[in-house]
Amino acid sequence: MIRNLVADGVSQGPHDVGDGVRLSGGARDRMNRDVVTSVRALMKNAVFDAFPGVRRRGPTASRRVALTFDDGPDHLTERYLDVLDELGVPATFFLVGGRAASRPDLVREYRRRGHQIAGHGYDHKRFSKLGRRELLEQCSRTEAALGGQLSGRPWVRPPHGSLDATSLVYLVTSGYTVAMWSLDSRDYSTNRPDDLVSACAHMAAGDVALFHEGQQWTLDALPRIVADLQASGLECVTMHDLFAT
Ligand SMILES: [Zn+2]
Repeated sequence: MIRNLVADGVSQGPHDVGDGVRLSGGARDRMNRDVVTSVRALMKNAVFDAFPGVRRRGPTASRRVALTFDDGPDHLTERYLDVLDELGVPATFFLVGGRAASRPDLVREYRRRGHQIAGHGYDHKRFSKLGRRELLEQCSRTEAALGGQLSGRPWVRPPHGSLDATSLVYLVTSGYTVAMWSLDSRDYSTNRPDDLVSACAHMAAGDVALFHEGQQWTLDALPRIVADLQASGLECVTMHDLFAT
C-alpha cells in the first residue's frame, strides 16, 4: 500500500523529479526507495508516539536531550566512559545481555559513573522474529545480567530497532518500557566523525540520539557533539531523566 502511495502520489513521473532534473532508472529507484523508507519511518514514529510504554522523544520544554549507546559492553567501553566523564555528561547504554554477563565489572562501572543501563536483547536477535516466550526470556536473562535497573519499569531497546506490533504488545504488557530514538546518528554507516557531528547539528530539546559502542569514530565525534549541544543551551541527561518530568 505504501509502495503504491509512493508510486502514484509522491514521485512526479517516471523520469522527472521537478525543475527539469532527469534521473537514470537506478537513481530513480534509489530515490523511490528513500521515499518509501522515510514514509515508513514517519508512520512507525506516529505509532510509537501514540503507544503508551514507548519512549522516542522527550518533552521539548526542558531544554534537555539524551545520548544513547547500543551494543556494549566491549573493548572500548572504558574509553567511552572516560570521554563522558571528561565531558561531564551522563548517557544511557543499551547492553547486550550476553556481553554484560561476561563483563560484570563494566556493568558496575557504567552505574558507578552515573549512567543509565538498560537491556538490548540477550544475543541481539531481532525481537520481531521471536515468539512471546523467547522474547521475554531474552529480556529477563538480560535483566539478570544487568542486576536490575534504576526504578519502575525496566527499559529495553529492540536490537536493530526491529519491532512489530506483536513484539511491541508483548513487551509493554509484560511491564517493559520500550526505548526508541528520535535522531539516528547513522554511526553504523560511516567511519567519519564529521558525519556524526553534522547528523547531530540539528538536535533539539527532547531529542534522543542513537549511537553505538565499539567505534573509534563515535568516540572521536563525542566531544564536538556535546560542545555543540551545550552551545545551543541543551543539557545532556539520561533517557530516564529526560522522561521523568
Ligand atoms: Zn544493537
